[in-house]
Amino acid sequence: MNIVSTKQEVRNQVKAWRKEGLSVGFVPTMGYLHEGHESLVKRAVAENDRVVVSIFVNPMQFGPKEDLATYPRDLEADSKLCEAAGAALIFHPEPEEMYEDTFCSYVDMNGLTNALCGLSRPVHFRGVCTVVNKLFNIVMPDKAYFGEKDAQQLAVVKRMVKDLDMDIEIVGCPIIREEDGLAKSSRNTYLSKEGRQQALVLSKAIFAGKDMVEKGERNPEVVKKAMLDIINSAPMARVDYVEIVDVATMKNVDVITGEILCAIAVYIGDEARLIDNFMISV
Ligand code: AMP
Repeated sequence: MNIVSTKQEVRNQVKAWRKEGLSVGFVPTMGYLHEGHESLVKRAVAENDRVVVSIFVNPMQFGPKEDLATYPRDLEADSKLCEAAGAALIFHPEPEEMYEDTFCSYVDMNGLTNALCGLSRPVHFRGVCTVVNKLFNIVMPDKAYFGEKDAQQLAVVKRMVKDLDMDIEIVGCPIIREEDGLAKSSRNTYLSKEGRQQALVLSKAIFAGKDMVEKGERNPEVVKKAMLDIINSAPMARVDYVEIVDVATMKNVDVITGEILCAIAVYIGDEARLIDNFMISV
């Protein structure tokens, strides 16, 4: 496995693979990799001849008061995980390699991003769409792998690829959780022992909400109320949002029917803002 930091090195390598007729899978990440990321890399390795993993903490997708400076980084551990999972190349650029001083072109979206995380993180999806577009243009993969953990991001990227006619298949991969239910996240490292314990209300609320829908509840307000009660039982928890939306539009639904996303974002004290969700088709 190679680790490179320039766009040109990625292009040269991918071109060489293409000459040999090899297919290329791509997993974009911000690093500090865990089993959630690993599941994406392994799936990509199973479905492609060569796999590129990008590790880039993208400044553009962080708001001014967010955790860009403190976001955890560990390239050595990440390299080991990628190599063991079968990746062929890590792209680890510095911000200057991705954004020159003259940079002024953005990929923006109207619609899917005016909900959920897009409301509390107004610049986030513009940053995500712009960097994912750039990374796609650099790697030019056949398939790219994203986690359902970031369900809105997955929907946004799928829509961008469709709207802008990108010839890339977007593959969504299931949420990987800790044994006690907490969705794995690089940001879990921010949690104190107490915060880690109280953060379990996220997955508890998700499992309870899903169970209600599976048992036939179709009123989103009833499901949301039950989930809010669980989350609010943790003194450190402060709800950002609990929403039930149509996956295709990210708009709230009056009745739970069709392809539904139930998504939550919760602050645990001042330690972390965590997200979780379930998707269901009824
Ligand atoms: P990040 O490094 O947080 O930007 O995540 C990179 C990719 O890994 C995204 O597509 C995430 O949705 C995915 N991912 C992160 N955590 C998980 C998880 N617990 N299960 C599945 N996918 C995940």
